[in-house]
Amino acid sequence: MKRRQAIKNLSILPVAGVAMGGFSQIDSVLSTKEKASPPKRDFFKELGVIPRINAGATMTYLSGSLMMPEVLEAINSTSHDFANMYELQDKAGAKIAEMLQCEAAMVTSGAAGALVLGTAACITGKDPELIRSLPNPPGPQREVIIQKTHRYVFDQSVRNTGVRLVEVEDAGHMERSINESTVMALFFNGAESWGGPPDKIKHEEFVEICKRHKIPSFIDAAADVPPVENLFKYQKIGFDLVTFSGGKMIMGPQSAGLLFGRKDLIEAAKLNNSPHECPIGRPQKVNKEEIFGMYAALKIYLEKDHKKEWQGWLDRISSIVSKIEKIPTIKTETVIPKGPANVFPSLRVSWDQSKVKISGQDISKALEEGTPSIIAGGRGNSLNIGVVLLRPDQVDVVAGRVREILQKAVV
Ligand SMILES: *Cc1c(COP(=O)(O)O)cnc(C)c1O
Repeated sequence: MKRRQAIKNLSILPVAGVAMGGFSQIDSVLSTKEKASPPKRDFFKELGVIPRINAGATMTYLSGSLMMPEVLEAINSTSHDFANMYELQDKAGAKIAEMLQCEAAMVTSGAAGALVLGTAACITGKDPELIRSLPNPPGPQREVIIQKTHRYVFDQSVRNTGVRLVEVEDAGHMERSINESTVMALFFNGAESWGGPPDKIKHEEFVEICKRHKIPSFIDAAADVPPVENLFKYQKIGFDLVTFSGGKMIMGPQSAGLLFGRKDLIEAAKLNNSPHECPIGRPQKVNKEEIFGMYAALKIYLEKDHKKEWQGWLDRISSIVSKIEKIPTIKTETVIPKGPANVFPSLRVSWDQSKVKISGQDISKALEEGTPSIIAGGRGNSLNIGVVLLRPDQVDVVAGRVREILQKAVV
């Protein structure tokens, strides 16, 4: 079926949410609808694993995001031949670096894997002895500078390389803390997003101090698209290393991620990685198909119409609102976090609990335990409904379940 014909036929599909997604989502819906025979084998059923509808955000425990059909195609179509993994990583990396306007890039096992490899690269350079010695290199324990308010769960990936984190309060303290053992400085871009206070040392000043002391700077921006511009922003500011997750809003394989920046450091990171047999990154292998898939995902992400995608999300919200707004005392609000992490719209629904007798936690639980199982965060007298990870056909399903549960609780 030609695409134009396919899109025309959408109007007759009994799936209201369908027109709201991008073309790829439309294609994915069509391709399942068009197939005469259902999939031969239901692996979820076979293992007794419950399929979940993600009306939240990209969460690793919920398997990240759904890969775009083009990503799945890259994975499938490359699975029938062998590749030299050194060559693949080099060539995919070169293309990715070109796309991201930076010196060099590589595909890692997620942003967490990139944190390990980037730090390892800063410690070892290309020295094979040092590479073999991690996480206990000879000499004093290596140090990584981090703002005190930037300490976070993922800094364990940095510490896995054996370094000690040195917390600094402000720019002066940072200057004074840099010494012979300092190998890197880490900036957690989402610190404010995660509820932290404003950064005492802003990006530019952080980079400037690092450059003056010849210390590599590394920024973790794992969850920080959209906006797409962020994929270019931090190397332009001057960070030596940048990481983004592949399996969040870039919608690539959740086991993949990007590490990019200075060429000598990316080369060193590769030496610390699989397919080399011994180094610290060897247990974080990314397979051939995922490297192709990550490349495909980034390409689509950069090329897609981001305005249209954003509008599609707002349309989903309007559609859900129209189905629940008649419930007594219901208030709805479109919430867009200030960022830089997780900047996309979601719908917050709240109600008067004396008229609608259910708590946010209880509706959340009812959604999760119902069929189909829907994950959405509720607390107090409100429920947050994420729309960006819903399949087009799930928008109505979520609206219907929320309406049903709230309506039942009306006194
Ligand atoms: C998600 C996340 C990570 C880990 O990313 P993966 O791609 O899942 O390894 C690291 N840092 C931050 C800030 C994140 O949000």
